[in-house]
Amino acid sequence: MKKNLTFIFVLLAVGLFILLGIVLGRYASNGLAAGTSDAVCTVTTTEVIASAQGDVYNMEGVSDYIEPESYYLATYAVEGDAIADPTYATAPSDLKDEQKDLALQSEGWKIFTDLIPPENRQMVAQFNTFTDGYSNTLAAVDQTKDDPSQWILEIDVADLQDKDSLIFTIIHEYAHILTLNASQVTPDLEIVNDPLNLSLQESKAAACQNYFTGTGCSYEGSYIDDFYNRFWLDVNDEWKEVDALQYGAEDLTPYYDALYNFYETHKDQFVDDYATTHPTEDIAESFAYFVFSPKPTGNSIKEQKIVFFYEYTELVELRANILGNLCTASL
Ligand SMILES: [Zn+2]
Repeated sequence: MKKNLTFIFVLLAVGLFILLGIVLGRYASNGLAAGTSDAVCTVTTTEVIASAQGDVYNMEGVSDYIEPESYYLATYAVEGDAIADPTYATAPSDLKDEQKDLALQSEGWKIFTDLIPPENRQMVAQFNTFTDGYSNTLAAVDQTKDDPSQWILEIDVADLQDKDSLIFTIIHEYAHILTLNASQVTPDLEIVNDPLNLSLQESKAAACQNYFTGTGCSYEGSYIDDFYNRFWLDVNDEWKEVDALQYGAEDLTPYYDALYNFYETHKDQFVDDYATTHPTEDIAESFAYFVFSPKPTGNSIKEQKIVFFYEYTELVELRANILGNLCTASL
């Protein structure tokens, strides 16, 4: 029996081709209907997690995939809970209506601010809307070019109705901000302005005593440094050989195949195959599972990766707040 195809495409390459930007192109699934509006909790954690399951690098049966064009619509300044001062990108004429539709564009921002408490998102200074059509990339984050301690959230207005996937993706994206912000990783202006410069990356990595994320050098005791040291040392050499296949490649199929094979070999270590993309994706994906899954009772490494976050009282509190907000917000 064949599952619905669900896969992720990676679009945004930041730093060492790291994909902060998500790249959750999930060809999904008609089966995940949004909740009904009269229920107390319109979105359930079970449905949110179910939307994330998926064989995104399993290219079996996929052929001739053409990456869709992506267009920015508007850029907003963030002022507390509000977005303001839009500037508009050049977009095709058939997107003009969406581009000026503040109510539509505010929906994505509202989901983010409804879920994440204000004190946990102070570093988000900009909100962008874009679209690449339904599915594909749902949301992304990035650092601002003039101040890498400030962050940008981007949401595709075409995916607003795909609530379960969008909520999971927003929490995954938020996890990037949580684990790569200036309290965790040294903001690096040179890297953020020259993200594809591999020799710059290498020299920065060589000078970093802790885990180098691709965006900067992590601090000792940071979430990502601890996560990497605990879970990645045994697989990193093998993973790096796979990861290297994507650089300079015209056809990414060999890379995706090798990554999926890596996942199959180490299935007990990763919450899903997208987590094998990069250590920064692993921690983000594991965080989203931490938020939406019950606390695991087993001891596999993938379960340990979820339990990892329970060691931090501030993250347990954040999880409780997000889940509380999930039910009280009118999502
Ligand atoms: Zn990501």
